[in-house]
Amino acid sequence: AELDTLDIVVLSLILLGTLAYFTKGKLWGIVKDPYGGSFNNINSAKAGKTRNIAEALEESNKNCIIFYGSQTGTAEDYASRLAKEGKSRFGLETMVADLEDFDFDGLDSVPSDKVVMFVLATYGEGEPTDNAVEFFEFITAEDAAFTQGADVPLANLTYVGFGLGNNTYEHYNLMIRAVDKALQRHGATRVGEAGEGDDGAGTMEEDFLAWKDPMWAALAEKMGLEEREAVYEPIFSITTSETLTADSTEVYLGEPNKMHLEGTAKGPFNAHNPYIAPIDESHELFTVKDRNCLHIEVDISGSNLSYQTGDHLAVWPTNAGVEVDRFLSVLGLSDKRHSVVNVKALDPTAKVPFPAPTTYDAIVRYHMEICAPVSRQFLATLAAFAPDEASKAEMTKLGGDKDYFAEKINAHHLNIAGALETVGKGQKWTNIPFSAFVEGINKLQPRYYSISSSSLVQPKKISITAVVESQIIPGREDAFRGVATNYLFALKQKQNGDPNPESYGLTYEITGPRNKYDGIHVPVHVRHSNFKLPSDPSKPVILIGPGTGVAPFRAFVQERAKLAADGETVGKTVLFFGCRKQSEDFLYKNEWEEYKKVLGDQFELVTAFSRETSKKVYVQHRLKERAKEVNKLLEQKAYIYVCGDAANMAREVNSVLAQILASQRGISDAKGEEIIKNMRASNQYQEDVW
Ligand code: FAD
Repeated sequence: AELDTLDIVVLSLILLGTLAYFTKGKLWGIVKDPYGGSFNNINSAKAGKTRNIAEALEESNKNCIIFYGSQTGTAEDYASRLAKEGKSRFGLETMVADLEDFDFDGLDSVPSDKVVMFVLATYGEGEPTDNAVEFFEFITAEDAAFTQGADVPLANLTYVGFGLGNNTYEHYNLMIRAVDKALQRHGATRVGEAGEGDDGAGTMEEDFLAWKDPMWAALAEKMGLEEREAVYEPIFSITTSETLTADSTEVYLGEPNKMHLEGTAKGPFNAHNPYIAPIDESHELFTVKDRNCLHIEVDISGSNLSYQTGDHLAVWPTNAGVEVDRFLSVLGLSDKRHSVVNVKALDPTAKVPFPAPTTYDAIVRYHMEICAPVSRQFLATLAAFAPDEASKAEMTKLGGDKDYFAEKINAHHLNIAGALETVGKGQKWTNIPFSAFVEGINKLQPRYYSISSSSLVQPKKISITAVVESQIIPGREDAFRGVATNYLFALKQKQNGDPNPESYGLTYEITGPRNKYDGIHVPVHVRHSNFKLPSDPSKPVILIGPGTGVAPFRAFVQERAKLAADGETVGKTVLFFGCRKQSEDFLYKNEWEEYKKVLGDQFELVTAFSRETSKKVYVQHRLKERAKEVNKLLEQKAYIYVCGDAANMAREVNSVLAQILASQRGISDAKGEEIIKNMRASNQYQEDVW
């Protein structure tokens, strides 16, 4: 029988759909462009690239691919450092790759004379980073199906692994541990140890440095590599444009991507494409001597952004003017700051981490994490470009001596420009190729904030609650000030009518590139989280959130009050809140009373003020005092939520809860711990900690 037109149309559509599914859009060249621009964007090294690892290595003549699973940029930075070191010390042909850009069913066709490295951060509750989700699911699946279908699919694979974790979390370095196990199970051969860096102990960088040397030695032996004198080779060419000026319309002055440059920004808004959100309202929740806390509301009604109670708002900060000036000055670039530069990757597998053509000023202000802690390895790299012999010797010493580095650099919270100023005693470091900074300094990262409003109550207005980061550093004149929170503080000043907004003397280019943020806007996106109220509001909840940890609980209580007002049955809500003094930093003090009016006895606020009595009282003490009630609520299947400080509070709350179960139920501490563990596994115990 003949097919009629409709049949043909339907069959063609099915075929197209199937192709699209199996090729993941490759045939159409649908690849994620970091700047969301058009496909001819010269910065998009990825456009049209294969998702097959062996092919990618073959096409680009590489024998080492370094994958990163990164959330805040550290894993990505370590990956590029390994790439550089592999190349400069051992002549390996390296490439760095985002896990998200490849398919892993082809891992079995990587030849045995090549090596695959994994640098994997573990995020939150033992979760993969956003870009590692698919890889992790595939590789750890019992029945992972590799292309060639061999019995021991990865028998040819040589790999190296390093994990970034935090020992204060339950699932310490789960990613690297699970991936390492899975790779071994599939028959792959690991070279060196599966390294583990610990952010909780503050030793991440040193753990990485200590791990990599024996790894390189083992890899050199395995692959027959010969070590040579490391010579710096730039990855990017940065040249001054002869034709363009900062006024030219095609020059990026801090716009995050092409759409923003052309004024056609549209969703989806995400980690590659922020929404320039109007700030609707902002005020200080408290102000005491050198501490302030901000409440900021951004309006998302002009976007297609949405959020759910418990999600996070990512804020894209701008560096403070004085830090941008310091950085450009120490490099001798102050006069050239507004010159237009073209930036090109000299290696086709490298991608320029910001859009170009642009200016030095824009790169440093909007795209580089110039205020972050300095990497010891980076100082060693820069030694070769020192302005004189004494500075060179000092840089080499700092690079090689961990304790000396800690004393001279870290103890003073110096950033890279501060370190160069100190070491060079005021001389300009004009010999350093700018590429070294593009490679050696992280991309400026968005900061996350637990959303403190309920999406049920205000679906188009997101509020956050942030303490302005400021630390007195012994032996340093000025206090150390955080990047994003001081920028937010200045935005708050402007929103409240200050014509010269600043934060403790720090000023910002607050109207953004080409004044696009004027009228008080801040670039943001929403990150969805698993930190969620039970879908059944009649379930009781116990909320534990001292300090800014109370942020998501303001949203939770706001939501439950609204549900109750709408006539729903709402279960008991007990909030444990702690701060220093009720007269100082008691967040949302008056609001709790309003919620109480609606929720009545179903809402209870338990407070712990640490500086009102001679003995410090924290939320975990209050929990213990109420052991009986807490246990009773747990017997009624209450959900427990903990938010705030990961290092101490969350951990102690965990053990206090286990002790409560043990003492109240007459079981062993170990059994108590196990119940808590099971509650975590079933999402009855959730954490949002940082
Ligand atoms: P940064 O400049 O990033 O500095 C942060 C810290 O890094 C400093 O205190 C210091 O210890 C260290 N540091 C930075 N530079 C140096 C240097 N040169 N030398 C030595 N040490 C250095 N915060 C809130 O206030 N409210 C919230 O609701 C909230 N929710 C969060 C939710 C999540 C999921 C996460 C991950 C974090 C959350 N945070 C929250 C923390 C927030 O994201 C920021 O980390 C915080 O506001 C500080 O940002 P900043 O840019 O001002 O400081």
